[in-house]
Amino acid sequence: MLNLVLFGPPGAGKGTQSEKLIAHYRLVHLSTGDLLRSEIREGTELGLRAKMLMDQGILVPDEVVIGMIENKLKEHQSAAGFIFDGFPRTVPQAEALDLLLAQYNTAITVMVALVVDEEELTKRLLIRGQSSGRPDDQNEELIRRRVQEYNNKTAPVAGYYESQDKYKAINGIGEIEEIFKSICEQIEAA
Ligand code: ADP
Repeated sequence: MLNLVLFGPPGAGKGTQSEKLIAHYRLVHLSTGDLLRSEIREGTELGLRAKMLMDQGILVPDEVVIGMIENKLKEHQSAAGFIFDGFPRTVPQAEALDLLLAQYNTAITVMVALVVDEEELTKRLLIRGQSSGRPDDQNEELIRRRVQEYNNKTAPVAGYYESQDKYKAINGIGEIEEIFKSICEQIEAA
């Protein structure tokens, strides 16, 4: 199995690159952001609670997203592999993911981190906010808060995979095709 963690701050291009990777490697895409937004659309209890946090740019509790991932792994037992996008976002989430995958006798193959500086991220997210309709993309202060959450809680996840020798950083600024090629090279090497 090929299990990829696509890592990077909000606006780094994880969604864009995920689409290309899914098509290329036939992987199942698991984006906790997308899963949460679909809970919100369906008006579930979980969605209502998550929305209050997401609208403030704050992470939802670990057990909520871990539970969603657990369900999806169960649903897709015959998958060729997974792309984890927006997950794990904290070290406890990364630890939980290792335990879950071990239950299926598999593991994370590699984490690819897209590196983009904060000025570029803010610019991209504000542009995305004009068309995506996502409330968390439409206000600069909220975007800064998300980047802050990323720096405080999510950035340490890179160290977690580095200590397993699975961390690969890639420059996330440039042509989409070039970035995609670099990601594929890291995957092939892993
Ligand atoms: P972004 O485009 O900012 O990377 P996502 O679409 O992945 O955002 O997620 C949007 C919001 O959903 C986050 O700001 C956070 O509140 C919540 N969220 C998504 N994934 C997670 C996660 N793994 N853990 C906690 N909160 C999450």
